Amino acid sequence: MQKNFWKDGVRFECQGTGRCCVSRGTHGYVYLTLKDRKRFAKHLGVSTQVFSKAHCVKSDGWYHLKGPEGACQFLKEKSCTVYEARPAQCRTWPFWPENMNAKTWNEEVTTFCPGIGKGRLYSAEEIEDLLKQDPLNQ
Ligand code: SF4
Repeated sequence: MQKNFWKDGVRFECQGTGRCCVSRGTHGYVYLTLKDRKRFAKHLGVSTQVFSKAHCVKSDGWYHLKGPEGACQFLKEKSCTVYEARPAQCRTWPFWPENMNAKTWNEEVTTFCPGIGKGRLYSAEEIEDLLKQDPLNQ
């Protein structure tokens, strides 16, 4: 993966717009690993099976939250109602593999997300760790 534009790190701080919870780019779904589903289920006080049946769909072998179009089912008034239990895909925004090339970053991510360039500096090493948490590469 080309690293030049983020080799010195990237500043990011969520501004709470909820935009990444409404439109997720090529991550059209909020994908969930087994760990994500277990965390969600524990947070909601149900079994992983009950959570998965009530809130998830499986497409092409991958679990994701129900609802491919529009806002996430857990977004209410621009706030995540399951913030503590949010899945890896949400925790790692904007450091998704599909975003980490200069063209996509400069033409799409920086215009889409007002948190880019704000807040603390994520080092290249931290970004690499976040990239490894991509739910589609587990
Ligand atoms: S789980 Fe929370 S952070 Fe993730 S897309 Fe839904 S509302 Fe947003």
